[in-house]
Amino acid sequence: MPALEIPFAIGETVWCSEPASTRERLPCPDCDGAKTVKMLLGNGEVYTLPCRGCQVGCDPSRGYVEVVTWSYEPRKFTPRRVDMSCGEFHYSAASPEATCFGYVDTSKMFHDKAECEADCERRAKEAQEGEDQRMFWNLKSKRKDMAWSVHYWRSQAIKFRKELAWVEARLHVSKEKKADAARGGTDADA
Ligand SMILES: [Zn+2]
Repeated sequence: MPALEIPFAIGETVWCSEPASTRERLPCPDCDGAKTVKMLLGNGEVYTLPCRGCQVGCDPSRGYVEVVTWSYEPRKFTPRRVDMSCGEFHYSAASPEATCFGYVDTSKMFHDKAECEADCERRAKEAQEGEDQRMFWNLKSKRKDMAWSVHYWRSQAIKFRKELAWVEARLHVSKEKKADAARGGTDADA
């Protein structure tokens, strides 16, 4: 029976790149904690609206944003079981009898600590760039939402004002017709 060679021996202590990100609250870059923002239009009109920059889903604005700082650290790891799926080996420190455990990919495992440190640095850089991009697009999209919101409700207000003026004009005409009819009736009776 042919033997399958595994890249790391069971029971051999190696280094693995482990995520160690931190999350901190910072004042919202849009409202600086005030939870509202003022929007000044080119015509001088000012609108105050809830800050979208620090809003999550439909919850009220919070005044702060949560920023993730990504880092990875080399950690000693002694695999006690190995599995293979999709052509890749995966190791776990859990005992072979354990029923609940996680696996570590071989791409994160190293014999040499310096190699693991370099991998940690590369992973942290990649993850941070992704996080910064996500934050940037998220904020940009929320600012667009706020501008759109003012534009939309302002156009709705203009539309309803026009409709109201039209309805009032109709009412006025209707009132005048009734008054004319009443006057006509009186004249006819006289
Ligand atoms: Zn805010």
